This record gives sequence, structure tokens and C-alpha cells, in this order.
Amino acid sequence: METRIIDGRKVAEQIKAEVTEELQELSKKNLVPGLAAVLVGDDPGSQLYVRMKARTSKELGMHSEAIELPGETTTEELLQVIDRLNQADEIDAILVQLPLPDHIDEDQILLAVRPDKDVDGFHPLNVRNLVTGKVGLAPCTPLGIMYLLKSEGIELKGLEAVVVGRSNIVGKPMAFLLLHQHATVTLCHSRTRDLPAVCRRADILVAAVGQPALITRDYLKEGVVVIDVGINRVESVEEGVRLFGKNSKRIGRIEERGYTLVGDVHPRDPLGVAKAVTPVPFGVGPLTIAHLMKSTVMACRLRKR
Ligand code: NAD
Repeated sequence: METRIIDGRKVAEQIKAEVTEELQELSKKNLVPGLAAVLVGDDPGSQLYVRMKARTSKELGMHSEAIELPGETTTEELLQVIDRLNQADEIDAILVQLPLPDHIDEDQILLAVRPDKDVDGFHPLNVRNLVTGKVGLAPCTPLGIMYLLKSEGIELKGLEAVVVGRSNIVGKPMAFLLLHQHATVTLCHSRTRDLPAVCRRADILVAAVGQPALITRDYLKEGVVVIDVGINRVESVEEGVRLFGKNSKRIGRIEERGYTLVGDVHPRDPLGVAKAVTPVPFGVGPLTIAHLMKSTVMACRLRKR
């Protein structure tokens, strides 16, 4: 079987084109959606994400704020920032970059974000909407994946969907979104017995684990569509050769840059077995930010309609 490699960048461009149209429509009503991304601490990966989110929203013509606070910021100080953003009319969507430092009460912060500006969908009201299948704000990675499955023309009704990983930000919301499209959903995790056998049932397999190349040939049914959410670093050339083959350009990347990225799915094993697969990088990654833009527009519409 020929395996289609799904280019997440193209789907992300499609989402952004839709956002641009929506922004033009909103501008006729003098509405400019606004996104605030809040980061505490100086983790380079998180800084990169927050800046990319702010830059993308600005490029599309939205109002955008990237708020970077020092690592020693207290829960009370962060609550004051959230309070200001909750009240700011130009801000429609508030995103608090996780994880927060250990000394900050994460639950208290996430509960403080106004539900109608809670673009990550963590507030209990939004979780309820997600679970009951109502329109509302939900985590952007699973929403991006649903958009991708739709744009691939995959009719989910009656399909077996297996999600590996039960995090609040990816695995669980993913399972509910697939369920609402009438897939039969199995949600797996680190204690699941015989994970390969469960995964082999899947017509749609979503891996959101954080374990490099966990999903190998043995986990895949012929014709499965594989969505690889994982982002893991491979830093040793030896490991790179094992995963990508000795002639892969990725080996050069490890030598030049010190690392390359691999997903939770083995990069070569699905080829010839799966119907389609998202690569890492340039698969699910670009969808998350693109969908954040779409969700910001949605938050603006829901709040200011
Ligand atoms: P997490 O660490 O919160 O959760 C991991 C889940 O995997 C847990 O539920 C755990 O039970 C399960 N798990 C761990 N080891 C397992 C094993 N051996 N077998 C089966 N299940 C196992 O992770 P997360 O936040 O959901 O992120 C998962 C991965 O996705 C990470 O690599 C993360 O970097 C990546 N991610 C990517 C994007 C994106 O935009 N592409 C967005 C979010 C997360």
C-alpha cells in the first residue's frame, strides 16, 4: 500500500486562509480579535511557542500580546495579570503556557481565566461543553487534528479510533471529539495491557505519548491513518541511524544542530502499511498554532455576537 504523508503545513495554511476571511468579515463590524499568551519563566521551548503564537496572530492582523513574566512570579501576581486580561475588551482569548513553575497553583490560575476567553478549553464550563458535545472552546491540538481528518475526507462514523495518551490537553479531548463524530473510541495509557494488540484495532490511530518511536510496525493495521502528536528529540547519531537509516538527511541534522525531532511513531515503520501518516516535524505541529488562531476568532464571535 502506498502511504500518503500528510503535509500539516498545507492544512495549516488552509486554516489560516479561512481565518483571514473571517477577520475581513469581522473588520466590517469593527471587530479585531485579540490573543494574549502568558508565559512564566524562561524555558526556551515555551518562549519559542509563545512568541510564535503572538507573531502568527499579529501577521494575520489580530491584536496580539505576548506577556513574559519572570520565573519567580507568584500565584497572586499571575492572578492579577489574568484579571487584567479578563477585563480587557481588546482581548478575546487568553492562553497560559503550561507547565507553570511548581510554586504556582496551576488549578487556581486556570480556573481564574474567564470561560469565554479560555482558548485552551481548561475551564470546567468548557470541559463540560466538550464532554457533552456542545459548541465551545477546546484544546487546539485535538481541534486541529479533527480539522485535518475532515480535510482528508475521512468519514469517522463507525470507525475504530485508538488514542494513546490520556493527557488533559491532547488525549482526553481528542477521544471526546472523535466520539462526537461517531467513532468507536479506545483511550490507552501507560497501564494499558497489550498496547500493540489494542492499537492494531485502529482505523485511526492517534499517538500523544511523548515516547520516541513507541509505535512500531507491530502496532499498525494495514490501511490505518496514523496521527503522530509526539515531539521528541533524538540527540545521538546512533539512535538517529536506528530510526531514520544511515543515509537519512536527519543524521546530518543531528551532527550540525545536536538533535533532530522524532514523533511517538517510528518514522519508517508505517510506510507501506498505513494509508496515511502525519510526519514529525511538519505534521500536527503547525495545526496547533493555526487552530489557535481559529479558536481566537471563535472566542471573539461568541463573546461579541
Ligand atoms: P503527557 O506527558 O501529559 O501525557 C502522556 C500520556 O502518555 C500519559 O497519559 C501516559 O499515560 C501516556 N503514556 C506514557 N508512556 C506510555 C507508554 N509507554 N504507553 C502508553 N501510554 C503511555 O503528554 P502530552 O502533553 O499529551 O504530550 C504528548 C506528546 O505530544 C509530547 O511529545 C508532546 O511534546 C507532544 N505534543 C505536541 C503538540 C503539537 O502541537 N504537535 C501539542 C501537545 C503535545
